[in-house]
Amino acid sequence: MNAFFDMHVHSKFSIDGVSTMEDYCLIAEKSGIRAICFTEHVDFNSEEKNLSIVKDNRKQNFVVEDYFSELNRLREKYSSIILLSGIEFSEPNMFPDEFALYSSYPFDCITAGIHHCYNSVFPGAGNLSVSKAIHEYYQIMQKAIEFGGFQVMAHLDFPKLFFDKWIINNDVLDTILSTMINKNILLEVNTSSLNNPCDEPMPSYFIINRYVELGGNKIVIGSDAHSSDRLANHFKDVIPRLPNCIQIGYFREKEFIPVIIN
Ligand SMILES: [Zn+2]
Ligand SMILES: [Zn+2]
Repeated sequence: MNAFFDMHVHSKFSIDGVSTMEDYCLIAEKSGIRAICFTEHVDFNSEEKNLSIVKDNRKQNFVVEDYFSELNRLREKYSSIILLSGIEFSEPNMFPDEFALYSSYPFDCITAGIHHCYNSVFPGAGNLSVSKAIHEYYQIMQKAIEFGGFQVMAHLDFPKLFFDKWIINNDVLDTILSTMINKNILLEVNTSSLNNPCDEPMPSYFIINRYVELGGNKIVIGSDAHSSDRLANHFKDVIPRLPNCIQIGYFREKEFIPVIIN
């Protein structure tokens, strides 16, 4: 049995999820995956300026009561798996009231993600230069981290999937990582980039190593699966390449719990 704890999974409660929560439980039961955190999208960003459209994303957000009712049903049925509740909230600093509302629900873990910038949504920077796009992305991320109130920052170099040259300035990187460490916001190691022709997780190993150099000592790992066949995908490849001193864990009731990976 492996002791994988997948802290970033989307079920059909997310607009782009294709598997039910129960689909994931069935896979976890078969493969011995110990824990799943259903981090469903919560997204209030509405303007896709470069595309000249205004979307009302809030209508796509899941019904929290239905989510907990299904999760509690599965917790009883699949008692050998640790089923954790969570959200992946886009740009929390831009939506303080909405973020406060979601924070009042009993989620085990709140993950923040930067998904909307460049005056548009990923992928692509619209008519911005790559350097401007990088600047804007990390400016939003820094503000989100300073705003705080969440446990984990998702996929720190996510836009590298969409650009040939994605270079982060060392000072910008250090400021982001140091602010995270000071505010006790954990770095996520997101393995979904390995589904693409990319041999690095998000963030890349040099950023994970820098996080450790600056004093970061805890991480969570997430597959960012949107279908159950991707649960804990690539964990086997990535975990042995992480710095030895780093503690992998999960969140329950917003408390970090370290785990031993076999
Ligand atoms: Zn995301
Ligand atoms: Zn995600």
